[in-house]
Amino acid sequence: MFSTRLLFRTIRPVSVRLGSTLAFLETAGGQITPASLSTVTAATQIGDPITVLLVGAGSMEAAKQAYKLPSVQKIIVSESEKYNHYLPEEVSPLVVKLLKENSGFKHFLVPASTAGKNFLPRVGAVLDLQPLSEIIKVVSADTFVRPTYAGNAVLTVKSKDDVILASVRPSAFEPAAEESTATSASVEEVDYVKSGNKTEFISEKLITSERPDLSSAKVVVSGGRGLKSKEEFDQLLYPLADKLNASVGASRAAVDAGFCDNSLQVGQTGKVIAPNLYIAVGISGAIQHLAGMKDSKVIVAINKDEEAPIFNVSDVGLVGDLLDIIPELTKKL
Ligand SMILES: Cc1cc2nc3c(=O)[nH]c(=O)nc-3n(C[C@H](O)[C@H](O)[C@H](O)COP(=O)(O)OP(=O)(O)OC[C@H]3O[C@@H](n4cnc5c(N)ncnc54)[C@H](O)[C@@H]3O)c2cc1C
Repeated sequence: MFSTRLLFRTIRPVSVRLGSTLAFLETAGGQITPASLSTVTAATQIGDPITVLLVGAGSMEAAKQAYKLPSVQKIIVSESEKYNHYLPEEVSPLVVKLLKENSGFKHFLVPASTAGKNFLPRVGAVLDLQPLSEIIKVVSADTFVRPTYAGNAVLTVKSKDDVILASVRPSAFEPAAEESTATSASVEEVDYVKSGNKTEFISEKLITSERPDLSSAKVVVSGGRGLKSKEEFDQLLYPLADKLNASVGASRAAVDAGFCDNSLQVGQTGKVIAPNLYIAVGISGAIQHLAGMKDSKVIVAINKDEEAPIFNVSDVGLVGDLLDIIPELTKKL
């Protein structure tokens, strides 16, 4: 039985075995996010025992889940409310302290989420280490593959840093599955590390949706400028997405034209996703858009221009007017 009361507060620094990986896991509503579970998978591929770091509201609840993750030997938790919104000014001093006090940590991994991308460079700057951004493959403990030039080239990089810092592209690693029985991981609760932070969290405005989360959805229906208006976007894409239990995405042109919220943007400056099925509707296939979806398992493109570059990466191409094709497809489904 797991009881949060069984946890104990450390009065001495956290100690870890030589050759461990520290993985920062984000939570939402007390659950470890899918992007963080992918980070655990990347950590298991490095091969060392894993210590996970959970901070802020819901982290104690999420520790119950962390117990069941593969290779996790230690769970470090700090429930201080200062960590609630993962402000980089607050989170990075804690991470720096843990890395400085434990020479056993050879890697520090974060999901390449907004939070992870926000504080990792800060940790790197303080410790004079060079973070590797958005790794997509673990070749060995010191060698990783990461994309560059909006995904048009991939680099294989070898790090000589004593502690290798890396953000993990979630779409490149399957989320770690929970094991049926809990591991014997130990849990240590650590205190808030004073930061001297002068910024304050005021509020956040989140778009809530019943649909699967865009970052981890298995099926995504995405709309572009070809949809012409917000009305067309809403009236054509959402019924199709409903039939497929899909999440809805968009090109930047669709976002800029006000067809939808910018949290739906897929691409170089939006979300990078790799669903099982990606349906691109009225999207030309600019490289910046492809950077966010070209690793999808099956790509269906619907476009009236048979020369549109999206057809170069699609498995199924439908040349025609989306005003005819989408209602017909939705009806048939
Ligand atoms: C630094 C930088 C970062 C960027 N980041 C991103 C990013 O993250 N994501 C992103 O998407 N873009 C990004 N862009 C923008 C990108 O270059 C393109 O401008 C954008 O992707 C185009 O969106 P689109 O395909 O919807 O529009 P368009 O290129 O205008 O394509 C519309 C398509 O709809 C088709 N169409 C029109 N009417 C119909 C119809 N009735 N039926 C069927 N098809 C129809 C047309 O044939 C056309 O192919 C970025 C650009 C820069 C410079």
